[in-house]
Amino acid sequence: MKEVDIVVIGAGPVGLFTVFEAGLLGLDCVLIDNLDKPGGQCAELYPEKPIYDIPGVPFQTAQEHVDALIEQIKPFDYDLLLNQRVNEIKIVNSDNDINTWQVTTSENNIFKTKNIFIAAGAGSFEARRPPNIEDPDQFLGSGVSYAVRSKDLYKGKDLIIFGGGDSALDWCVELSDIAKSISLVHRRDEFRGAPHTEKLMRELVTIGKLQLLTPYVINSILGKDTVTGVTLKNFDSNEVKEFKANELLFLFGLNKKLGPILDWNIDLNGKKIDVDTSTYSTNLDGVFAVGDINHYEGKLDLILCGFHETTIAVQEAYRRINPGQRVPFGYTTSNAKLQAKLGVNS
Ligand SMILES: Cc1cc2nc3c(=O)[nH]c(=O)nc-3n(C[C@H](O)[C@H](O)[C@H](O)COP(=O)(O)OP(=O)(O)OC[C@H]3O[C@@H](n4cnc5c(N)ncnc54)[C@H](O)[C@@H]3O)c2cc1C
Repeated sequence: MKEVDIVVIGAGPVGLFTVFEAGLLGLDCVLIDNLDKPGGQCAELYPEKPIYDIPGVPFQTAQEHVDALIEQIKPFDYDLLLNQRVNEIKIVNSDNDINTWQVTTSENNIFKTKNIFIAAGAGSFEARRPPNIEDPDQFLGSGVSYAVRSKDLYKGKDLIIFGGGDSALDWCVELSDIAKSISLVHRRDEFRGAPHTEKLMRELVTIGKLQLLTPYVINSILGKDTVTGVTLKNFDSNEVKEFKANELLFLFGLNKKLGPILDWNIDLNGKKIDVDTSTYSTNLDGVFAVGDINHYEGKLDLILCGFHETTIAVQEAYRRINPGQRVPFGYTTSNAKLQAKLGVNS
């Protein structure tokens, strides 16, 4: 079990900026996100959309914004854990009335901390499961996946990809040289992805490197302990056909879910967490909520509001770690730690 000053749940823009503000005060963080990349909504939902309301930055695409935040926190100590959800938080002790928490992820990484920052946006992004298949997750790790964690997994395998958006098209192109065979299943012969990638995908079909199966939908997964194939139903004729496969990659997009947060006895206002705006603490001592996930009168779901909230909350986190001490205040130009890490002579 690793001890850290702040565990940040969610590596969206607000979670990322928390590392910066914590770093200025010499606090270390671990950032945990369910997605396979940092950046939250910006990276997942609208990477190419421009953002015009970041102070001092007239124009940035959302992905450029995320990249800049990652660059900005480079001088500071933090760990980034992706592809895992924070499932459980529990108090391990309350010495001098200050709670120490234990935080456990879905990959069974466990942290001890005095400060949990919930920067969970609209909830964790969870892959949509294939419709009409009972418990597809029984094959997780033995033939079913919802994201590409490692391309090597598909080396020499008979792979079937499901979906009609950018991810499905991108991975067909990317994995066509890695998998032994690759098929793409979609319920119609039209795709929502970038026209350029669709063109590349159709070229692979022409040269026989990809089998395009439309209009088909999944009917069942075959196999006992591991996947051995699927049956697909023709969307028009209802005819069912069997196909051999040992890897199935379902890319049906993402749902947003509050998920385990609902079990943590936190005061909610609808799907948001109530906070005290003097510190952005929740009703639980040592648990803060910053960014889109929180609720208070006048709240706006904007990145810059989340930056303000987490800046204030980090001050309180410092006080909890150093009870009775004044929180050091200074502009970044006079922050010796930052200057030293950036190699600047102040
Ligand atoms: C189309 C669109 C356009 C927008 N344009 C703008 C704009 O121009 N300007 C602007 O200021 N704002 C804009 N926004 C809003 C902005 O994206 C949000 O305010 C911002 O993303 C909130 O950041 P966040 O870090 O609080 O949460 P998010 O970006 O939502 O990130 C939260 C992260 O937490 C993760 N998470 C949640 N629960 C868990 C858990 N239990 N375990 C692990 N991980 C978890 C999620 O997977 C997610 O990655 C836009 C939003 C959308 C949808």
